[in-house]
Amino acid sequence: MNKITNLVFTILLLALPAALLAADATLVKPNIVFILADDIGYGDFGCYGATKVQTPNIDRLAAQGLRFTDAHSMASVCTPSRYSILTGEYAFRKKGTGIASGIEGLLIDTHRTSVPSLLKRAGYTTGIVGKWHLGLGSKPTDYNHDIKPGPLELGFDYAWIIPATGDRVPCVWVENHHVVNLDPADPIALDYSVKRGEPESFIHGIPRIGRQTGGKAAIWDDENISTVIAAKSCAFIELHKNEPFFLEVATHNIHVPRVPNPKFRGQSQCGVRGDVIVELDWTVAQVLAKLDELKLADNTLVILTSDNGGILDNNGPDTVHGIGSLAAVNGHQCNGVLRGTKSTIWEGGTRLPMITRWPGHVQPGVSDALVCQVDLLASFAALTGQKLAPTDAPDSYNILPALLGQKTDTPCRDYLVEQNNDGSALALRHNQWKYIPGHNGGKSGRRKLAKPEQPSEVVADHDLPPPAGELYNLATDLSETKNIAAAHPDIVAEMSAKLAEIRTNKKSRP
Ligand code: CA
Repeated sequence: MNKITNLVFTILLLALPAALLAADATLVKPNIVFILADDIGYGDFGCYGATKVQTPNIDRLAAQGLRFTDAHSMASVCTPSRYSILTGEYAFRKKGTGIASGIEGLLIDTHRTSVPSLLKRAGYTTGIVGKWHLGLGSKPTDYNHDIKPGPLELGFDYAWIIPATGDRVPCVWVENHHVVNLDPADPIALDYSVKRGEPESFIHGIPRIGRQTGGKAAIWDDENISTVIAAKSCAFIELHKNEPFFLEVATHNIHVPRVPNPKFRGQSQCGVRGDVIVELDWTVAQVLAKLDELKLADNTLVILTSDNGGILDNNGPDTVHGIGSLAAVNGHQCNGVLRGTKSTIWEGGTRLPMITRWPGHVQPGVSDALVCQVDLLASFAALTGQKLAPTDAPDSYNILPALLGQKTDTPCRDYLVEQNNDGSALALRHNQWKYIPGHNGGKSGRRKLAKPEQPSEVVADHDLPPPAGELYNLATDLSETKNIAAAHPDIVAEMSAKLAEIRTNKKSRP
């Protein structure tokens, strides 16, 4: 017996270095579940200060993992933000990446390295469930035949998607290359000359952007969108539990139209907008429970964030639910103390909740590291031991140490460029500084300030910027209330030159 015991001990000792090595983040390939919420602001979760809506499951994820206070989307609206995530390229470099319609062609070159193609190369099975909004096929998209190129041509093995948004036609699910439940005898026709609110734009009593005729049997049920996304996500995890997988769970919540399932109505203290946050929290719980059930949680890197900042009711459909006012959200500040909203160049447009969890690998706590979603591609390359070609992911920094909560001598990312809805306004971040070159009205993001939509916009009547632009010290003025550009011409000059360099060089990563 002693000999056998000794032998077992010897084997265990020999195996120990290998076990320690396997614990090294650079040598294991965890599953990756990337939960991308829609239009969730910096103040929308309990763990970020919300008090009038409860998010216990997201709060628990934050308690088990790392909660970021200076995490950003690259852009303050969906399409450019999501373009940057998948390509690792600042969206302002690519024309046509403004908010896409439902008949826009695929906006990403299928030959370039993207998050799914990179992970597929690394041996992952890749899937996306939920909102896409990056164009499909060739413009105008034909939904009655093979719909491609799309997610599959970019490297996803499986896709179950909302083509554009919940408030844009077509209001149908697309699975891989086909509309789900499409009757060939009732083909889909789309007319984007029809404006939201015109009688022909209504589907299920909700005004949409554009008109859909045909495809009647394929039209989704708005009240069950989150249920479907949760079920499809869990099914993907179940199916691929024995292989490394990457799953993007791109929720419809909490974009408009906000139509919670009846079981979530009245579940928050800040109106329908809060109820769909509760519904989002439930969706997250379903996915996390599936990981637990399959004993995958310890081997899965979960990243939860939002594609852009919060807004009460920017474009219509919510008014049918009567929540287009501050009173209806009971004073809930969706972007916390931040200035601005979705689509603006201010922090409220791009500074977002972000949580990472990977038990034993992510150091739990709170991180103030400056990070951006455009960095995920290079970070996933580092995580899985993949090399990027010089032309790949031109603006994606490897922030893996920051995602894991590791201390580094220098910040993972030194500079960060952000943009408003259409790229007409850019901002440059560096340490505590935020520089915004002079920009005019129109679509610059400033238009949102003309009509204050939430209490955090206390500076709505802010003076117009001087020609030199604006400079804020976010360490002392997180709400961007004091433009100190005039007092720091040296910093303005330096950051202006750096921004020009980043634009000219077409690449910014080290
Ligand atoms: Ca969005």
